[in-house]
Amino acid sequence: MAQSRKKNHYRILMVTTEAVPFAKSGGLADAVTALAQELDRAGHDVRLLMPRYYGIRRDQLFRFPSPFRVQIAEERYETAIYEGRLPDSEVVVYFLDHEELYGRDGIYGVEGEAFDDNLRRFTVLSHAALTLGSRLGWEPDIIHSHDWPTALVPMLARRKRIGAAQPATVLTIHNLGYQGNYPVGMLPETGLSWNELSESGLLHHDELNMLKAGILNADMVTTVSPNYAAEIQTPLHGFSLDRVLASRSDRLVGILNGVDYSLWNPELDHHLDVNYTAETVTLKERSKSALQTELGLEVSNTLPLIGIVSRLVPQKGFEELLAPGYGALLVALAEMSIQVVVLGTGDPDYEYQLRRLADRLPNLKAIIGFDDGLAHRIEAGADFFLMPSRYEPCGLNQLYSLRYGTIPIVTRTGGLADTVQDITPEGGTGILLDHACPNEIIKGILRAVTMWTESPNQIAAVRRAGMKERYAWESAVGHYLEVYAKAISYRVSV
Ligand code: ADP
Repeated sequence: MAQSRKKNHYRILMVTTEAVPFAKSGGLADAVTALAQELDRAGHDVRLLMPRYYGIRRDQLFRFPSPFRVQIAEERYETAIYEGRLPDSEVVVYFLDHEELYGRDGIYGVEGEAFDDNLRRFTVLSHAALTLGSRLGWEPDIIHSHDWPTALVPMLARRKRIGAAQPATVLTIHNLGYQGNYPVGMLPETGLSWNELSESGLLHHDELNMLKAGILNADMVTTVSPNYAAEIQTPLHGFSLDRVLASRSDRLVGILNGVDYSLWNPELDHHLDVNYTAETVTLKERSKSALQTELGLEVSNTLPLIGIVSRLVPQKGFEELLAPGYGALLVALAEMSIQVVVLGTGDPDYEYQLRRLADRLPNLKAIIGFDDGLAHRIEAGADFFLMPSRYEPCGLNQLYSLRYGTIPIVTRTGGLADTVQDITPEGGTGILLDHACPNEIIKGILRAVTMWTESPNQIAAVRRAGMKERYAWESAVGHYLEVYAKAISYRVSV
């Protein structure tokens, strides 16, 4: 094993399908980058490996002169490695370049349809992670994979392991709802032989399940909030893997994601015309009128404005918001003298319904697309932020909302329950819904509106309390370092 840079400092290879600013579909991209940058600041040698998607321009990257061959059983992939850096850091990013596998738009698919060669695309990435180290003369102490696309890595490391000569492995589950399920007949695409099927842990309910193999083979498994770590070991939130996870409960740790406050901070946010602090929070009103003007809403501070920024998928409560049939709940909200702004992309059916509703309801604006600047302006301009998620591993938007003095209305689940305290006369930072169901959402909105119209002082106090909260990556990093140390000690003992 190669020496680390400094004593007690690790060499960490993160294998990922997303990282800001290069490729993002959700919170995974924010989390990977922020964690890597923070580990770098703490003196660790952390590097990323990810695909070179079509949208990542090669002309600003350094190309390794010789090709990088990835051999998967009989299949050989001639790839190239490009090197770049994460902004404001020393973190090296290796981009795996292969035109046929990654040279297209979309990370996992387009228009809600997954690519049918995703198993192959991400298997190649996972195998590359195992051989990159020797190719670079830089053997990591830890390979840290994220979600199902790279969950094969722990199994691959385990089968290569001779004594302590291979890296320890950590798998982080950012969302248990996506497991990478494939027909068993596709096993050869993973590079594993039929003899290895049962020991690989891949088999689950007569299918291959990539995430399950990762959970069973990783030296340590983490997920992104303590409450979610407990929930996924129960049938309600376990997506059929609850027992598998419970069987590894001694290796499973929930670590809350942090927020990158250099990007998400109303004092410094360059997407805003007017910046504000907890002391000058009344200036937030100007962000609200700017947002209303930008989106063509009536400019008024009397009407409460509710923001949503989200992937448009059932997980985020859109079935409930749009049910029954034709957006009953959103219609009710828009007719209740409340302004509602939804920014999102995802399920084409939800996109269509939202567009149609917004066409006929002047108080509802639906912006279908991915727009980071607008996401910031909604966080600043909205009075309340709605996240009626069915489940939520950590959730970032409620954390941004707290920082922006925008009161979150969230389901009592996963990381939302860990980070938002229900408002009582004694304090609190947001409104908690017991379940993601239309009645609860209406109840929560009514609480919000009543508070808005009757108790401006309470609104101000709740805002101040939320703005004081901090979910910094520094503290998360301490927990990850403990996980890495444990993973290494378990690795040595296998
Ligand atoms: P998830 O990872 O499940 O999508 P999170 O709340 O953890 O949910 O993270 C979502 C991240 O993606 C946040 O940074 C949010 O602002 C961003 N985001 C989601 N949809 C959009 C969109 N349409 N435009 C801009 N940003 C978006």
